[in-house]
Amino acid sequence: MTCNALHSHRHIASTRPVSQNQSAPAGSVDFSQNPQDKVVLQPGTYTVQNLKGGETPEVEKAKLSEPLQAENGAYVFADTDPRFHAANSFSAVARTIQFFEEGTGIPVAWAFGEPQITVVADGGEMLNAYYQRAEGSVNFFHSTDAVTSQVVYSGDSGEVVSHEAGHAILDGMRPAYLMNWRTDCGAFHESFGDMLALVMSVQDDKVLAQVVEQTGGDMTRPNMAANLGEELGITINHKVGKNHTGGDYTRTAINKFKWQDPKTLPKNPENPDELGSEVHNFSRLFTGAFYDVFTGLVNENRANGMEPGQAIREASNEGIRMLGRLLKAAPRFDFTYRDMAKCFVQSERDAGGSHADLVAKVYKEREILPANLTVADVPPLQNPTTSLTQEALAVQKDLVPLRGNFGNFSGASVEIARDPQAPRFVADDDQVRDDIKRLIDDGRILYTEPHQRLSEKDLFDRNGEPYIGVLRWRDGQPVIERNTIVT
Ligand SMILES: [Zn+2]
Repeated sequence: MTCNALHSHRHIASTRPVSQNQSAPAGSVDFSQNPQDKVVLQPGTYTVQNLKGGETPEVEKAKLSEPLQAENGAYVFADTDPRFHAANSFSAVARTIQFFEEGTGIPVAWAFGEPQITVVADGGEMLNAYYQRAEGSVNFFHSTDAVTSQVVYSGDSGEVVSHEAGHAILDGMRPAYLMNWRTDCGAFHESFGDMLALVMSVQDDKVLAQVVEQTGGDMTRPNMAANLGEELGITINHKVGKNHTGGDYTRTAINKFKWQDPKTLPKNPENPDELGSEVHNFSRLFTGAFYDVFTGLVNENRANGMEPGQAIREASNEGIRMLGRLLKAAPRFDFTYRDMAKCFVQSERDAGGSHADLVAKVYKEREILPANLTVADVPPLQNPTTSLTQEALAVQKDLVPLRGNFGNFSGASVEIARDPQAPRFVADDDQVRDDIKRLIDDGRILYTEPHQRLSEKDLFDRNGEPYIGVLRWRDGQPVIERNTIVT
């Protein structure tokens, strides 16, 4: 979720005894849920549908990692009850999956090949949250706030949970993205989680009412939907000892960033209002543009006579449909922000959407698209009908040998996903080498010795950020692989 969480030793969450004489509820069951977090909203409840009814809550595509004791046929607890964290994180994952599937018409399928994703509500002490493909899980943690001494749980935030579920959903549709080394691609993964969390958040009546109160329908005003992960962000700022995130949030979608080549940017500039090349940081540009599109939808609805609440809710309904169309059209392997923005225009023009002009206008203003681009000039979608499963299966691994001096990493090969239908361009390999060079220089690739055993915590650096890549030895040959843990 964040770029600057701090990591410490983690322990296995204890399982709680479950009463044998009380049957676990099934079907439509109420869960505690906070679509925001307690800094900005009191927790409410959410009805999970098609709950299977075991001692460990599960639905078709998600399960909690541990048993949870129901009370009066529901999983509704005070937020001081330790069970609250599990109820909130599990139900927020279930809600995100349902919202995505209903909004886009795309059935979620996981990249790790299992039917269910595992929700680890409290994986120990860490100021972060992450999706891990290898284990097929989304993981949430707790940390003590350095100023207030309160224990903060990342899984208590519906937005943080939706962000992590977003990584998992995107990975299922486009697994090659987590084998890609380009900043734009990693940053889009971050942006997708934030865009999903944003449009989902205002589906909740209480959030919608508050956003209406905060904005009056003018979405350029700060509001709890645009601001993501408020409690976590405040705790990060307390830990860092200054305003590191730019405000009382982990990130906000309200910004004026314009395109800059990430190669020319510092990783995380001192000033949070400046764009950096670290993927969470750089994601703010794409998310900010999407938020402008969202704002445009609200304005359009307002101009058509809708009240602010209805205008925002309808923009959310359209926003998730647009994200679905974009994902169907999205590049399968390597891409830049500009490629993705062109796809956004294409998918609105050609795949049943109606906001191609709005998308083109916004992404031109952000200088992601060239100023002279016209909607009609964007080429037609290449392959809009290919099934997503077929696309996922088409991912083939390939190795790019490093050439020249890469320090410890000299002589290694870099694993990438290659489109088997695309011709092999030398320029692509140079791009990979270029990206790897920068990541090595930034300390983002983990070096290991032959036969070195790695535990999960080794895949995180001193600042608690997962490495982007890790050098492993295959039959005595050093290969740099992507780390498929993303925060
Ligand atoms: Zn993330």
